[in-house]
Amino acid sequence: MSKRMVVIGGDATGMSAASTALRHAAEGDLEVVVLERGHYTSYSACGIPYWISGHVPDRDQLIARTPEQHREAGIDVRMRTEATAIDLEKRTVSVRGLDDGGDDGDPDDLGFDELVIATGAVPTVPPLEGADAQGIFGVQSLEQGEEIIKDLADGDRRRAVIVGAGYIGVEMAEAMVMRGLETTIVDQAPEPFTQVDPDMGALIREAMEGMGISVLTGVPVDGFDVGEDGRVRAVRAGDTVLPADIVVIGLGVKPNAQLAADAGLAIGPGGGIVTDVRMQAAPGVWAGGDCVETHHRLSGKSVHIALGTHANKHGRIIGTNIAGGYGAFPGVIGTAISKVCSLEIGRTGLGEAEAEAAGFGYVAATVESTTTAGYWPEAEEMTVKVLAEQRTGRLLGAQIVGRSGSAKRIDVFATAIWNGMTVEEMTFMDLSYAPPFSPVWDAVLVAARRAAKQVQGEIPASPV
Ligand SMILES: Cc1cc2nc3c(=O)[nH]c(=O)nc-3n(C[C@H](O)[C@H](O)[C@H](O)COP(=O)(O)OP(=O)(O)OC[C@H]3O[C@@H](n4cnc5c(N)ncnc54)[C@H](O)[C@@H]3O)c2cc1C
Repeated sequence: MSKRMVVIGGDATGMSAASTALRHAAEGDLEVVVLERGHYTSYSACGIPYWISGHVPDRDQLIARTPEQHREAGIDVRMRTEATAIDLEKRTVSVRGLDDGGDDGDPDDLGFDELVIATGAVPTVPPLEGADAQGIFGVQSLEQGEEIIKDLADGDRRRAVIVGAGYIGVEMAEAMVMRGLETTIVDQAPEPFTQVDPDMGALIREAMEGMGISVLTGVPVDGFDVGEDGRVRAVRAGDTVLPADIVVIGLGVKPNAQLAADAGLAIGPGGGIVTDVRMQAAPGVWAGGDCVETHHRLSGKSVHIALGTHANKHGRIIGTNIAGGYGAFPGVIGTAISKVCSLEIGRTGLGEAEAEAAGFGYVAATVESTTTAGYWPEAEEMTVKVLAEQRTGRLLGAQIVGRSGSAKRIDVFATAIWNGMTVEEMTFMDLSYAPPFSPVWDAVLVAARRAAKQVQGEIPASPV
C-alpha cells in the first residue's frame, strides 16, 4: 500500500523534498500532497529585489515551477490551502481552503505517514505606531513584490525609506535607486550590514553614500507619520524625520514555527524547529529551511540562518530520507553574499563578535587590493578581512567588501573553512591568475599570509 507524504509549504524546501522523494520512491509507493497557502510554488524570493529594480523584467522568470508543472510530475499540489494544526498522535494535519479556494473555510483533517514542515520564516514587523499604514511594505513574497511594483507605478513616488540595512535592506535600497527614487536607509546599529564587522560595515556606508543613498545609523525607528488618507508620510527615527512616499521594511525574519510548537515539537534557542542531522523533528516528521535551526560548524551553536541555499539542501535531504535513502545535513558556516549597486559584500564563518561569543582567541587581518591586476583598465577596489584562530591559525572567518568581481572570492574562504585549513596552509594555494581576473597575488592569498604572520607573532595581532 502506498504511504502518504504531506508537505506544508510549497517553496524551496517543501517542493524540493516532494520532488526528491517522488523521484526516488518506487512507482506507486508514495502519494505526495503539498499544501501551499499562497498563490505560487517554487518561486525565488531571492530575485524579488531584482524584479522590483527592473533587472528581472517579468515575475514569471522568478517561478522555477508552477503548481501545474508539479502536478504533471505527479505531486498533488493544493494551492490557497493552509495547514492550521498538526496532531502528532492521530497523524493528521488540519487543513482549510482560503478565500478564493472555493472551500467552506472549515478545517478538514488530512492523514499522513510522513510529514514535512517547510513553512519558512515570518518577517519581523516593528510594533510601532503607523506600521500598518498604506505605502509601508515587507518584501517576503511575490505577492508583496507585486504590491510594491504596483504602488511605485500608481503615484508620484520620489522618496523611499528602507528600514533595516541587512541583506534585504541593501538590496531594496539598490532597487529604489534603480527606480530613480531618492533613497534613505535607516538602521539602529552603528554601521550598516551587521552581518559583517563594523569596520567593514563602515566601508559599505561610505560606498552607499557615494552612490547617493543617505545612510542613517545608530538610531532606531520610533514610528511613522501617516496622512489623513491613511498613507505613510514620513519615518521618525530619534530627532530625525525622514519624508517618505514609500517605505520598505527589511528587519530580518524569524522562523515560522508556531504550528510545530503548538504540536509539541521542540523549538531551539533561535526560535526554529529542532531536528536531528537527517532533518527529522519526530519519527516521520521532518522539517527544513527557514523554519528550522541548524548546527554551526565553527561555533558549535544551534543557529537560525534563513537562506535559500540551506533550504534547497534541507529539502533534498528530507526527500532522500523519506524515499528510503540516507541524507544528513552537515551544518552551516554562515556563508552569504549580497550587493548594493556596484558594491559587493561576501562573508563566511565567524565575525569578530561571533568569534568572541564562541570563546575563540583570534587574530584579524585586513588587506586592500584590486579585483584584477592593478594596471588592468577595469581594476576595482576590494577589501578583504580574515579571522584566524590564535596559535593554531585555523581560518575562522572572512569578509569581502569591494566592487564588481570581488565577492565571489568568499567561496574560496568558505571551502577552506569547510576543510579546516589554516591561514598558513592557504598562503601558497594554487589559485588562478591572469590580469583580467586578479593580481598575481590574489587578495585571498595576501590576506591569508598577513593573518598567518600575525598568528606567528611576526606582526602585531591587533585588528588592522
Ligand atoms: C527578498 C529576499 C531576498 C533573498 N535573497 C536570498 C539570497 O540572495 N540568497 C539566499 O540564499 N537566500 C535568500 N533569501 C532567503 C530565501 O528566499 C529563503 O531562505 C528561502 O525561500 C526559504 O525557503 P523555505 O522553503 O524554507 O521557505 P519559504 O520560501 O518561505 O516557503 C515557505 C512556504 O510555506 C508556505 N506556508 C507557510 N505556512 C503555511 C501553512 N500553515 N500552510 C500552508 N502553507 C504555508 C508559505 O506561503 C511559503 O510559500 C531571500 C529572501 C527574501 C525574502
